[in-house]
Amino acid sequence: MESPHSLLVEHLSKSYPTATGPLQVLHDIGLELSAGDSLAIVGPSGSGKSTLLQILGTLDHPDDGTITIDGQDPFQLNDKDLAAFRNQKIGFIFQDHHLLPQLTVTENVLVAALAIGQPSAEQRERCESLLDAVSLADRRGHLPSELSGGERERVAIARALLMQPALILADEPTGNLDRRTADSVTELLLTLPSDFGVILITVTHSDALAAAMKKRRELEDGRLV
Ligand code: ADP
Repeated sequence: MESPHSLLVEHLSKSYPTATGPLQVLHDIGLELSAGDSLAIVGPSGSGKSTLLQILGTLDHPDDGTITIDGQDPFQLNDKDLAAFRNQKIGFIFQDHHLLPQLTVTENVLVAALAIGQPSAEQRERCESLLDAVSLADRRGHLPSELSGGERERVAIARALLMQPALILADEPTGNLDRRTADSVTELLLTLPSDFGVILITVTHSDALAAAMKKRRELEDGRLV
């Protein structure tokens, strides 16, 4: 049996170069989470939430500090291995879902597997059971344009889980939804850590979503408090 998923962030810092000198966005960020944990990162606009999420998603490099996901520091990998690591270990859920418009629901859920070849029978089975889990089994042949906003977000959640990732990163996953739909997507998100053994980190302005997570940290002047 594989050991449970883990995330360790130590002394992470990030600055951006600007005309008037470096702009320090993240200072000495530390985090330790394990399978089943859920964390809301809150903070005002401009506090560095997106920057932190990008780095946790290995889409951007920190200036200093390390991230360790399931024992591996992804920034030690070359570009090709990093892309494979990201595909395997990290699922992303965006505010505007980022589904591919020309692909069906099933194909969108399978996209991480399609990116590296033909999905295996096991991955196809997993796709079916994920569509069941997000209550979209009867929409599997639909295109994203044939779905409601809440249904699209559910497809994005199923897609993020396909590769059995360690980490799910969600950026304002309920941001574009009406209150009732947001509540049902929040309810679904809450089941992910316990049902799939993932670590869920969500950046949000929604008090309801933040309150539903087990842990909550605020970014203030680039520090997590
Ligand atoms: P949040 O997601 O909390 O709104 P961001 O992480 O997007 O915050 O941005 C944090 C700060 O870094 C902001 O002041 C923003 O203007 C600045 N910033 C973000 N991206 C860049 C960039 N590529 N170059 C320079 N400054 C940036």
